Amino acid sequence: MLKIDILKKIADAGLVGRGGASFPTAQKWAAVSDALKTKKLGYIIVNGAEGEPGVKKDGYIIANYPEEVLAGVYLADQFLGSVKIKRIYFFLKPEYYQKYAAGLKKVLTAKKYRALGAKLEFFLKPPDLTYIGGEETALLNLIEGKKIQPRLKPPYPTMSGLHNHPTLINNTETFYNVGRVAGGKYEEDRFYTVSGAVKRPGVYKLPINLTIEEVLRQTGNYPRSPFFVQTGGEASGEVFNSLQLEQPVSGVGSIMVYDLEKTNRRKLLKYWLKFYHDQSCGQCVPCREGTYRLWEMINKPELDHKLFWEIVFALEETSFCGLGSSLPLPLKSYFNNIVKK
Ligand code: SF4
Repeated sequence: MLKIDILKKIADAGLVGRGGASFPTAQKWAAVSDALKTKKLGYIIVNGAEGEPGVKKDGYIIANYPEEVLAGVYLADQFLGSVKIKRIYFFLKPEYYQKYAAGLKKVLTAKKYRALGAKLEFFLKPPDLTYIGGEETALLNLIEGKKIQPRLKPPYPTMSGLHNHPTLINNTETFYNVGRVAGGKYEEDRFYTVSGAVKRPGVYKLPINLTIEEVLRQTGNYPRSPFFVQTGGEASGEVFNSLQLEQPVSGVGSIMVYDLEKTNRRKLLKYWLKFYHDQSCGQCVPCREGTYRLWEMINKPELDHKLFWEIVFALEETSFCGLGSSLPLPLKSYFNNIVKK
């Protein structure tokens, strides 16, 4: 397939990244391709190590559609000029590797994929690393064996990524979608993870842009008792009450359902704050100190509300990367949409 063809197909299909940021896929591929005009080599990273708690779609896709995922990776390699792509890293959680690598390796034995398989390397996420390992530039540092923390951007990985060479980083679902687009099988759908206080938790393939309510109803998961939801991940996602479900499921496409009466509110806040405190890489003061102070405060019998929200505001405004600046989202939406209602 001609380079221009695949790029046009991806653009026409409106594909966006499915790792959470929703960046247009065609734009990212074109940026790496442009950068490779003046650089001798580049890299591809397939991110299949979803670090956000409550999101399971990447594992589901790799388990059920290994061929489509690798078809997308193959097209990326061809599009960028295969001889220039030195290595392809398939980034996975250890448990995903144990369960699903055999399926991927089997696909790579096909004649079409042998050259691809020769330069594809599985790279396993350290077990204690979750969220920050998914930040693109922190992932570059991890693979390079450096301290795992985000880099200053720009330059973006498309221009200067792994070992300072142009690097295409896409989520597993994005490569899957590219494979489907190229094969004329893309149906404007996406994968939703539904979990929590529901009858049928799991990963569902449904049309894109469904509202939260539509996903819950179409999957037979609309609760009977009072509830609230968190979309976009069990840690960094936004919280909505049951009268606010008329909006599309954004980000990584997850919906966590909480029982309104049975959920222990203090425990939930502690869960979020512990997650962020544990995951902070410590590079910048607002996040390093802020997540520590918030975690300390929530463990005291009385919460100093004024100081609590001042720290949350500081995290939102001054954190170096998306980890610190995303903490206010669950906290603020939870207080505004659930506690105050
Ligand atoms: S916001 Fe947190 S995770 Fe991000 S660079 Fe600062 S300390 Fe590290």
